[in-house]
Amino acid sequence: MDLSYILNELGEERENFSNAVVPPIFQTSNFAFPDVASLRTALLDEYETYVYSRGQNPTLTILRKKLAALDGAEDCLVFSSGMAAIFCAVLANIRQGDHIVSVAKPYSWTNKLFSILLQRFGVTTTMVDGTQIENFENAIQPNTKIIYLESPNSFTFELQDLKAVAALGKSGGILTMVDNSYCSPLYQQPIAMGIDITLQTASKYIGGHSDLLAGVLCGAGEQIKRIFSLDMLTIGSVIPPFHAWLLLRSLRTIEVRLERISTSTETVAARIEQNPKIEKMYYPFSTSHPQYELACRQMKKAPGLFSVALRVNSLDQVELFCNSLRRFLRAVSWGGHESLVFPACAGIPVGDFDANTIRHRMVRFYVGLDDPDSLIQDIEQALTVI
Ligand SMILES: *Cc1c(COP(=O)(O)O)cnc(C)c1O
Repeated sequence: MDLSYILNELGEERENFSNAVVPPIFQTSNFAFPDVASLRTALLDEYETYVYSRGQNPTLTILRKKLAALDGAEDCLVFSSGMAAIFCAVLANIRQGDHIVSVAKPYSWTNKLFSILLQRFGVTTTMVDGTQIENFENAIQPNTKIIYLESPNSFTFELQDLKAVAALGKSGGILTMVDNSYCSPLYQQPIAMGIDITLQTASKYIGGHSDLLAGVLCGAGEQIKRIFSLDMLTIGSVIPPFHAWLLLRSLRTIEVRLERISTSTETVAARIEQNPKIEKMYYPFSTSHPQYELACRQMKKAPGLFSVALRVNSLDQVELFCNSLRRFLRAVSWGGHESLVFPACAGIPVGDFDANTIRHRMVRFYVGLDDPDSLIQDIEQALTVI
């Protein structure tokens, strides 16, 4: 199945919808039945039937087929946020007393899930430096149920060898899952590498226009049905039909958006890396990245994010640099049309800033659909200010 077929044709079944080119939004909470017997049958299996839109909805069905195919997975579930997808995937596969091995420095709220929330229920997590496979091996305990990955993470961009970790999980009967938000399924295919579950926020590249929140969980059919039938229906954080429709709309252009974004990012990162005010570049497809070879092996491309450490010695200079940018909005998130800048110091209390800690001087850029030369000029003018 080629990518354009998935994006433009798969699951559309236009003959069922008056041959409308664009699928309808089924803006309905529930579905009626001709008699009690058929209602009873439907309630026995909400996975296969339209009963209530906390479960299935026809607009969502089209989206699920496309998103599962993009990941090369048997099936998928779509949530009202990326965090809901991550929470549900983890919750559905642990019980009290279990242990998780997670890559260090996962997404901030995933970190809180492991280090605070799950602790309340007797589930412990060991965080490991994921650049060495031995660290995963050494952290596994008899009660380890999940190995959780995020490759690369979205601030310092360390990678994990997905094939090696998948093989480790398989050999020990441990479920492997990866947050694939940075690459998206277009540029990294973890399921083909043996990973059991892929997760991604659809609020970033899949949505692509900074106007909605959603999250995707892909995996084997049986696993997905099990998660749907208890955990997801209970948590209730399904994507609403209108947002599912917006994602179908966004998918039409994801290939061209990511192509533009990744090409521009490579241009901007390569140029900025040369500037003497940049102490260090963090970008998986820069030859200076310590895992450049692994990045080339398991990722097709690196899309729009990179970070730099500024050669400065005060918080004021980091702030002055960021405040001097005219073409980058100062904001969290990424994946939309607009270019963004996010300095690590925005998440650090002013009194805790330490110029000797390189992380405190780090600034993350997201290159959107803007003209790359204008973005380069903008960064360069802001670097001359400091
Ligand atoms: C944004 C993000 C999430 C969370 O997604 P939401 O849709 O905001 O809940 C998870 N992982 C990564 C890597 C992210 O960047």
